[in-house]
Amino acid sequence: MAVSIDLKPQENRSALAERALAAAAIPAAPQQFEDKPSLIGLSREELGEALASVGVPQRQVKMRVAQLWHWLYVRGVADFSQMANVSKELREKLAAAYTIARPEIVTEQVSVDGTRKWVLRFPAKGAGRPVEIETVYIPEEGRGTLCVSSQVGCTLTCTFCHTGTQRLVRNLTADEIVGQVLLARDRLGDFPDAETPAGAIVPSEGRLVSNVVMMGMGEPLYNFDAVKAALAVVSDGEGLALSKRRITLSTSGVVPMIAKAGEEMGVMLAISLHAVNDTLRDELVPINKKYPLKELLDACRAYPGLSNARRITFEYVMLKGVNDSLDDAKQLVQVLKGIPAKINLIPFNPWPGSAYECSDWDQIERFADYVNQAGYASPIRTPRGRDIFAACGQLKSESERMRKKEREALEAAG
Ligand code: SAH
Ligand code: SF4
Repeated sequence: MAVSIDLKPQENRSALAERALAAAAIPAAPQQFEDKPSLIGLSREELGEALASVGVPQRQVKMRVAQLWHWLYVRGVADFSQMANVSKELREKLAAAYTIARPEIVTEQVSVDGTRKWVLRFPAKGAGRPVEIETVYIPEEGRGTLCVSSQVGCTLTCTFCHTGTQRLVRNLTADEIVGQVLLARDRLGDFPDAETPAGAIVPSEGRLVSNVVMMGMGEPLYNFDAVKAALAVVSDGEGLALSKRRITLSTSGVVPMIAKAGEEMGVMLAISLHAVNDTLRDELVPINKKYPLKELLDACRAYPGLSNARRITFEYVMLKGVNDSLDDAKQLVQVLKGIPAKINLIPFNPWPGSAYECSDWDQIERFADYVNQAGYASPIRTPRGRDIFAACGQLKSESERMRKKEREALEAAG
């Protein structure tokens, strides 16, 4: 059986717990957050336009873009003054018009299993309010995965997902998406040539951000342009240089955007499947009413670049008595026929007020065995960071609550 499960952290729990307590809720360092456009997340062309806007002559633009790209994404600087080979005059002009600041850290928590969660605050855009989102880092044997958010809240209302109970506040911009990766690398001491910032938690094992998954808050295909721009920067070979094979975009099933994502982003695809018939999927993942299973699976079959070496991951949350029978497993194998696939079984992570229970462990194993024997890799995803509410589906920011408080304050004043 190819399935391996270990719910108990392998490391010494008390030592980790001590570290977690020491590092839990590190207060944000005071920083200045200005309302200037960011240079983070721009394409080279856009960066060139920004440089031209502060007076860099056209013949120098290409060279300056390469310099800045290196400082931003290889050296990881967050302050123009550190760009040693850029003239002081240009640095000052850039600093007057633009920012390269990291998002503000509201809290930084470390789980007993080493998972880290940051609540990050982004400044108001235009007339909006500041917003908060969550980013999670999951160290594993031989790799480190960063789970990145694409929206504040979500327009969809999957019944088992905490984020789904928070209405959409707004889409994140490309700079805010790339900013999550830069911030995580800062905090992990993951820019080799940069000074490690004060208070950074540097893992003794040297685990770094090797993979990015668009599986935080929000539906990435409902924020297509910003996600595409951000992933282009994250995968740029002369910068952050993450291979597209190490970037996975997870969608609940926005069918019309799937082929476009394959063609224009070229990253690995994950589908939040969770049910194998339309009746149940309509209930669990309501976008299914708009794009039913058959259309979703046809879009998967046609995903550009699909092969046995580049499979689609199907995520399947294990809900006790709801979708976890052996009959479900049989149907799962049937509906996926012909699609190079891997099936990630996710034990349901509870959250306050959730209406489901996680399937019994024996049942998850039986389900996994069946799917595995039918020829599909079917790893059971070890829940990570449950103690700090960082696990799949537990993310929900305070942005909504802020609005409610503000509304109440306004009502009281009126
Ligand atoms: N919106 C996108 C990406 C974010 S969700 C999507 O739905 O695919 C990341 C994964 O966590 C999805 O597969 C989602 O269905 C799953 N998930 C949501 N809530 C969960 C919960 N409470 N327990 C376990 N997995 C959950
Ligand atoms: Fe949104 Fe994904 Fe949660 Fe569904 S599972 S509500 S699409 S974040």
